[in-house]
Amino acid sequence: MAECWANNEARVIGVDREGRVDHDGGALSFVATEGPYDADQHFLLGLWDGAPLFVRAVPTAQDGLRAVIGGLSVEHLQVAFAAVGLIGWHHRAGFCPACGTASQPVLAGLSRRCPSCGMEDYPRSDAAVIMAVTDAEDRLLLARQPVWPSGMYSVLAGFAEVGESLEQTVHREVAEEVGLELGQVRYLGSQPWPFPRSLMVAFAAESTGTELRPSPTEVEDACWVTRDELRERVSAGSMSLPMAASIARRMIEAWLDGELTAERVG
Ligand SMILES: [Zn+2]
Repeated sequence: MAECWANNEARVIGVDREGRVDHDGGALSFVATEGPYDADQHFLLGLWDGAPLFVRAVPTAQDGLRAVIGGLSVEHLQVAFAAVGLIGWHHRAGFCPACGTASQPVLAGLSRRCPSCGMEDYPRSDAAVIMAVTDAEDRLLLARQPVWPSGMYSVLAGFAEVGESLEQTVHREVAEEVGLELGQVRYLGSQPWPFPRSLMVAFAAESTGTELRPSPTEVEDACWVTRDELRERVSAGSMSLPMAASIARRMIEAWLDGELTAERVG
């Protein structure tokens, strides 16, 4: 790994404690590695055009990922998600979950090992489902949470609970949030979402009914929209959608185009 770090072509990106990164608006700012390799600080992300690419924690960086990801290419977005997710995990995982001893990075930062009990700890992702629910007339269910920016609507989402399959999570969340029953659930695709460590797994499902009973605590408003209604509300400014880089937005746009498929969303 020290040889990789010393490679003339090696690059590193800094991520600060709040998950901010340096960028120039359209691309992440990689810099050449310098100084000696430090196994506690320098973590390998992989090879980028054949050259080693590292990430390291820095005291401060430019902007949070949410402000940056809209302008990034698919390749830079993947690097950003991996870099911010990995540094965030190292910040939170400094102590052995089994015995509480301070742990150390091993395997170039891929995991941490406890010097006391030997337990190896790996980065975790929290499984969450996100679902495009349609009715028999192919209207789309949109809803908003009270904490979202005014006017923003999206498809429903929620975290998997322990012991649940993802399909069960889809049924439970939709029942809890809007009181609907679903027919068959169909896998569409997935997306890492390191805020701080989710893996969003997307599904499509058709509801058996249309009566909405929004959860008073979780859902501020829920509604069925036709394609024309959604386009009109967005162009009139009375409704806004999730950021373009999100799988939620891809699902909504795929439905708008009549292509709610794994090929389009995944
Ligand atoms: Zn331990």
